[in-house]
Amino acid sequence: MTAPFSDSLAPIAFLDLPAQQARLGDAIRRRIDTVLAHCRFVMGPEVAELEQALAAYAGAGECVGVSSGTDAIQIVMMAEGIGPGDAVFLPAFTYTATAEVPLLLNATPVFVDVDPRTFQIDPASLEQRIAQVRAAGRLRPRAIVGVDLFGQPAPWPELRAIAEREGLFLMDDCAQSFGGALSGRKLGREATATTLSFFPSKPLGGYGDGGAILTDDPERAELYRSLRTHGEGKTRYEVLRTGMNGRLDTIQAAILLAKLEGFDDELARREAIARAYDLGLEGAVVTPARVADAQSAWAVYAVLAESEAARAALQDRLKAYGVPSAIYYPRPLHLQPAYQGHHDGTALPVAEDLACRILALPIHPELTDAEVARIVAAVRG
Ligand SMILES: *Cc1c(COP(=O)(O)O)cnc(C)c1O
Repeated sequence: MTAPFSDSLAPIAFLDLPAQQARLGDAIRRRIDTVLAHCRFVMGPEVAELEQALAAYAGAGECVGVSSGTDAIQIVMMAEGIGPGDAVFLPAFTYTATAEVPLLLNATPVFVDVDPRTFQIDPASLEQRIAQVRAAGRLRPRAIVGVDLFGQPAPWPELRAIAEREGLFLMDDCAQSFGGALSGRKLGREATATTLSFFPSKPLGGYGDGGAILTDDPERAELYRSLRTHGEGKTRYEVLRTGMNGRLDTIQAAILLAKLEGFDDELARREAIARAYDLGLEGAVVTPARVADAQSAWAVYAVLAESEAARAALQDRLKAYGVPSAIYYPRPLHLQPAYQGHHDGTALPVAEDLACRILALPIHPELTDAEVARIVAAVRG
């Protein structure tokens, strides 16, 4: 196979943190220096400043900074008292963290199939799974986790209608999609609580672990604040409930404040790259369908190959051209060793098919137009 670009040009990065630092490093270092000067490394002023900035960005009433996106999910579920005997409905095609938290709380994840074109949770499958759990009578349906996958919103109007009709708590795992929007409104207010992750590869990524919870409910926000600090009450040594050490580090908040300033420009760049891919790749692979009336944060740009073998061939060709790619997700959660034993055996054919054919291309704001053109050429072969 000839690889016309790989000899003359450097390999493209899937996530280019050094280039990001070259662009933002000075602003980030100034923020970190401030923290080094005041030394309030735990719950320093940058945490509250970031919480206010994120709440304002999303138009949410409250924001609680926490230690990771996973801990954010855990705190929200703990606040609802989700536990043994409870069924938590969530998509089978998502990152493992969404499913592991219910199990940590001794609740049961119930896996739901996804849409073949948008990859988001499928409301029809959700209704079927709820009916199945009710009919079996072993678990109590308690909550739905809508996941905004790859930057796009889950089908929120449908999820809200189902949650209301079924009397279920609705939360938004927005770890991948902060900055995305639905009907002109930024994600963060679609469900009772929205969880964010600042893992470095997310659209708004820190330089370590971090997360946040958005809500419009002040009582829930107070509970989340208590739970993130060992269940504390009004004073540090009043312990009201079993909580956790789930705080966001001051240094991460400082870094995120610096990164938030250029966030909208980054989102615009991601959108421009996605459009270039859509145009350039038409006919070569199945490009990702847009959720109606939505703006994606483009955490992931995933295409579909015709078959598992075609995907393997495509991935090999990209590699030869110096273009990295990644498979999110090679196995749906209900078929993972950790979850198989908790799954009722229901086939989830779309999630199973996507796992065999999906392939993510690089999409980060540091990609140059020339690199995007190289990637398109490599996919087209
Ligand atoms: C990344 C991610 C999480 C977990 O976030 P962490 O900050 O890594 O704990 C949860 N859900 C989804 C869908 C994610 O992509």
